[in-house]
Amino acid sequence: MSQRSAMARSNRANRVVVLGSLNMDLVVRVSRLPSPGETVLGHEFLSAGGGKGANQAVAAARQGAKVCMLGCVGADHYGRELLALVRAGGVDVRHILRVPGPTGVAAIVVGDQGQNQIAVAPGANWLVNRDMVSRADPLFHRADLVVAQLEVPTEAVMAAAQRAREMKVPFLLNAAPAEADLGELLSLVTLLVVNETELAIVLGRPVREGEEAGAARELLERGPEAVVVTLGARGALLAGRRGLLERIPAFSVKAVDTTAAGDAFVGAMAARYRGLETLPEAALHACAAGALACTRPGAQPSLPTVGEVEAFLSSNPPVCG
Ligand code: ADP
Repeated sequence: MSQRSAMARSNRANRVVVLGSLNMDLVVRVSRLPSPGETVLGHEFLSAGGGKGANQAVAAARQGAKVCMLGCVGADHYGRELLALVRAGGVDVRHILRVPGPTGVAAIVVGDQGQNQIAVAPGANWLVNRDMVSRADPLFHRADLVVAQLEVPTEAVMAAAQRAREMKVPFLLNAAPAEADLGELLSLVTLLVVNETELAIVLGRPVREGEEAGAARELLERGPEAVVVTLGARGALLAGRRGLLERIPAFSVKAVDTTAAGDAFVGAMAARYRGLETLPEAALHACAAGALACTRPGAQPSLPTVGEVEAFLSSNPPVCG
């Protein structure tokens, strides 16, 4: 995107199209995560809206973006419930289809230290396809940013990336869950967001702590204009074309559940992204959103509003180092 077009819309909300998954999260809290074959008695159960696509759509909407989501839910009660939750989260759901079969479900175990273990049955998410992208053409026309993750078929993600490129709309890929061979898809990405694990998988080799900047720069050679690596409690780092390399500090919080920290981060980035030059400011805001999401249980219920992030930023200095 040119600087002029970024300036022209600096006073209005970003229009964001999110292509991705919707899952019902079934969460059990335990004092420690079970080992393979082990049963651990938990303390409490929570069901909440989830799926990386829906989480990021709601996260961006809560950060002030105008968001429309493309995705599928099943013809069951979870599907109805998820649609209602995403709509209540401020997202336009007209392009979320109800299809035969079960809705996506994620079984999540969260330990006392906030760490988690997740298994997903994708259900309806696997029926998202390139035709849905074609039908959303008018939305792509008006979008400031298209966002996708990898919990729906690659064919659909690829179609969204191609359409965004044809319309000169920036494309943010959160490569989660990571895949080793993103090939052509990576060449269509404007902004790639990965966590430490995903960074190594996408790159195709292990990356040691402290070596993330070099690894991110290597990924720049495969297409993206910028790569953002989220580093959990260590914050994030940015690597971009024209020599951009910046460490974004973390915020110190008491983490109770880190589920959706990455989604809160991506949603906030999407709401504030206005070109490469605005990335450091957007990423600081996103780090605060990610930190706040860690302080509350569940995925969508934990996603902060723009007011909460601004209040948090004004009273919490980032932790440098
Ligand atoms: P993911 O959830 O995709 O694994 P991360 O764990 O890297 O992603 O978290 C995303 C962002 O959320 C981080 O860049 C950071 O800003 C924030 N965050 C995550 N965990 C913590 C934490 N324990 N303390 C403070 N901030 C955190």
